[in-house]
Amino acid sequence: MSETLSLFISNLHKKNPGEPEFLQAVEEVATSLISFIESESRYKNTKILERIVEPERVIIFRVPWLDDKGEIQVNRGFRVQMNSAIGPYKGGLRFHPSVTLSVLKFLAFEQTFKNSLTGLPMGAGKGGSDFDPKGKSDNEIMKFCQSFMTELYRHVGADTDIPAGDIGVGGREIGYLFGQYKRIAGAFNGVLTGKGSEWGGSQIRPEATGYGLVYFVEEILKTKKDSMSGKTVTISGSGNVAQYAAEKCIELGAKVLTLSDSKGFIYDPAGIDKEKLAYLMHLKNIEHGCIKEYAIKYNCEYFEGERPWKIKCDIALPNATQNELDANDAKTLLKNGCICVAEGANMPCTPRAVATFLKEKIFYAPGKAANAGGVAVSGLEMSQNSQRYSWSRAEVDAKLKMIMHEIHERCIQYGKEEDGFVNYEKGANIAGFVKVADAMLAQGLV
Ligand code: GLU
Repeated sequence: MSETLSLFISNLHKKNPGEPEFLQAVEEVATSLISFIESESRYKNTKILERIVEPERVIIFRVPWLDDKGEIQVNRGFRVQMNSAIGPYKGGLRFHPSVTLSVLKFLAFEQTFKNSLTGLPMGAGKGGSDFDPKGKSDNEIMKFCQSFMTELYRHVGADTDIPAGDIGVGGREIGYLFGQYKRIAGAFNGVLTGKGSEWGGSQIRPEATGYGLVYFVEEILKTKKDSMSGKTVTISGSGNVAQYAAEKCIELGAKVLTLSDSKGFIYDPAGIDKEKLAYLMHLKNIEHGCIKEYAIKYNCEYFEGERPWKIKCDIALPNATQNELDANDAKTLLKNGCICVAEGANMPCTPRAVATFLKEKIFYAPGKAANAGGVAVSGLEMSQNSQRYSWSRAEVDAKLKMIMHEIHERCIQYGKEEDGFVNYEKGANIAGFVKVADAMLAQGLV
């Protein structure tokens, strides 16, 4: 480790105690950026790395609400406004009991690079709450969302900060949040993305992260004149990203073997086909049931409390949450002949898992590149809202495909090594960084 890097990391730890997720995300980026920054004279004496890791603003607020029994509940709300160098703050809201300031700072930090990679003019933010939507009634979800927005509305706006969904925040929650914003602000505008397609939302937004992920994998495979057709795929998660990633894999002729939820995973050796996926979507989105029921209905194996990485596959798509795939999983995947790991979730692979993939030179696509399709279509939703217009499904899909192609090109530009191997992690970090850092320098010391 270079002296500059170790000094930077030790200061970072001193400044951000008790924030393990944030430290993990920054260390990963700093490690691949430091020698690039040192080699470029325009970054000399700019303290650009120290500046980019500090959020522009963090808002923490109380969210009180009444549950169905008439009892008072109190949660904590957050919005991390990370970076506005290339556009207004943009990024999702996460509602999950694991949400802390550290988790949201890591996500907002990743979002800075991800949004930059899309090529669209979006800064970065992230927010959410430790509220657990699981087991709550519709009425309770609405009450919570209304209370959350009653404070958040003064900090967001169509030209300043545009939240969207993330874990625990889907179309229903965006609807309740939007309704409350409109009521308080008295304005119908593009303050949130992921809206319903009948009221300002974009076509393909629900599908975008999952579709974009598979388009990115196709781009990777194309470099070896290969394709998704005939590939076996293991997927973790069964939410929005996993569902549409599975749909696109099936459409492109791959065989999807697994899906999971917080309780376990299902392994369907015959492959999850269109009909089975439709059942799964109904089970998860309408009935809010457990994935175990899929195993019962289709008579396949269910592994309680486990993740799917021990199943032999060509391609692994971790689509659930941070740090869900560790070094042992990485070794198992490699032993079983896996050729590509692409992250639909944010930071699902631990640093040691990533190091294992890079050492063995298999394709590893970090989330900030591979899952950028979601926020990219959010960016397209913002464009459509500004124009007071909406594009067709085919138009949005074509734009999404093009954006994923361009992100892939940017990763190659900065990540191709002497022997021809593409280090997508390094490529994504440097390409994402350059645009934001140069904009920050151009705008003076702000
Ligand atoms: N939460 C998604 C992400 O991690 C989407 C954010 C957005 O659409 O603003 O990128």
